[in-house]
Amino acid sequence: MNEQLLPCRSCGANRLTLILSLGRTPLANALLTPAQLADAEPTYPLDLAFCPHCALVQITTTVPPEQLFREYLYMSSFSETVLRRAETLVQRLITARALGPDSLVIEIASNDGYLLQYYQRADIAVLGIEPATNIAQVAREQRGIRTISEFFGEELARQLAEQGELADVIHANNVLAHVADLNGFVAGIQRLLKPNGTAVIEVPYVKDLIDQVEFDTIYHEHLCYFSLSALDRLFQRHALQIVDVERIPIHGGSLRIHVGQAARGVFATPAVRALLQEEAAWGVDLPAFYQRFAAQVAQLRDRLVTLLNDLKAQGQRIAVYGASAKGSTLLNYFGVGRDTLDFVVDLSTVKQGRYTPGTHLPIFPPDRFELKERDPKSRKQLKAIGKLLKRDDVDRVVNACDAGREGELIFAYIYESVFDASPTERNGFPDANMAMNAASTFKDGSFKPAPR
Ligand SMILES: [Zn+2]
Repeated sequence: MNEQLLPCRSCGANRLTLILSLGRTPLANALLTPAQLADAEPTYPLDLAFCPHCALVQITTTVPPEQLFREYLYMSSFSETVLRRAETLVQRLITARALGPDSLVIEIASNDGYLLQYYQRADIAVLGIEPATNIAQVAREQRGIRTISEFFGEELARQLAEQGELADVIHANNVLAHVADLNGFVAGIQRLLKPNGTAVIEVPYVKDLIDQVEFDTIYHEHLCYFSLSALDRLFQRHALQIVDVERIPIHGGSLRIHVGQAARGVFATPAVRALLQEEAAWGVDLPAFYQRFAAQVAQLRDRLVTLLNDLKAQGQRIAVYGASAKGSTLLNYFGVGRDTLDFVVDLSTVKQGRYTPGTHLPIFPPDRFELKERDPKSRKQLKAIGKLLKRDDVDRVVNACDAGREGELIFAYIYESVFDASPTERNGFPDANMAMNAASTFKDGSFKPAPR
C-alpha cells in the first residue's frame, strides 16, 4: 500500500504508508444553506497515512485555509472546565518558572485571550497571536489582551524576535495538528523562545485515537495525529528538547508537552523516557499497529449499519443528535444518509435550518424530538420515575447529565412530561471532560483504621 507519493509533513521522507482511506468527502464543517443544495458540493480525498521514517500519522491532502475556514464561527465563551484548566495551568507555570514583571508569555492561536487573561491578572506581560481578525478584536477590546492578528510561522517569529519579543513561556493549544507548514511552525517556536524558556504544547494523542477508534476525528482540518515519538523527532530537528509530558483527558485524549532549548542542555524527565518506551512497545514505528485500526473502523461500520438497517426494517424513524464535524466524517464514510436517517437536531441556532455536508440531512432545533414510550416496559419505567419525582420528601431535582449532550435533553423531556414545566435547576458537569476529570479524581473510600 505504498502508493502515496506526497512527502511526510514532518521529515520529508517520500514513502508514506496508507492506513485508512475515507474516500472523497466534503468539508466536515461546511453545512449547506437550502440554496446550496442544488450546487455541486466540493469534495476532497481524505486519506490517513503513516510515515515509517518518523512515525507521524497524517492526512495526505491539504485543503487551502481560505476554503477550510470560510465560515469561522466565533464561540462566545469557553466552558467553565476549559477556563478552570487554563487558570490552573497558568498558576502552575507562574510558580514553576518564577515568572514576574520582566517575563513575557506568548500564546499561539490565543483565541479571545481565555488563557492569557490569567497571566495578565498576575501582572505578567502577554502577547496573543490569533489569525481570526474578529476573535483577535474581542481579545483586545473585551479583555485588553495585546493580540496580533496573523498566522504564526518562522517569518512572524523572526520579526517578533527582532523586536525583542522573546518568550519565557509559549503556549500552543490544539493548533499544531492544524498547521500545514509544520517545520516552519516549530522553527518559529525555537526562534521565539528565550534560552531558558519553555513551550507548553497540547495535541490530540494518536494512541487514544487508535484505542478508542476515534476515526471520526479525522477530517480535513486535522492534518496530523501525533505520538510522542513523532513529536520528539520533529522538535529535535529544530534544536528543541521535549522535557516533560502529561496525558490529559481533552479532545478524546491529548498530550501536553513541555519543550526547552536543546542547546541549554535540558534533559527529558523519566515521564518522557517512559512514554517513548511504552510507544516503542506498542509499535509506534510499525505500520501494522495502525493498519489494525483500519480493520476496527470497518467492523464498527458494519455493526452500526446493521443496527440502523434492523431498526429501519422494524419501521422505526431515526434521527441524529448533534450536527458535528465528527458526525459528518462518520455519516459520509459509512454511507448513511437520507435513506436511513430522518433529520438532525442541534442546539446551535447557527446550524438550524441548514443541511449536513454530503448527506444533506435537514438540521432542526432539538424540540423536533418527541418523547414517546415505544413499549409497555418504557411506559412502566417512565411511570416509576414520575412517582419518584413527585414524592413528598423530594424538594429538589437536579439535572446532573452532561450539558449540551443527549442525556440533558432526555432529562428535560422526562421532567416536562411529569411536571408540565421546564426543569429549573441543573448542577452537573458542564461538559464530558469535567465528568472524566471528576471520575479520575475519585478518592479511596475504604475505611482505614487510624495508626496507633
Ligand atoms: Zn516522516
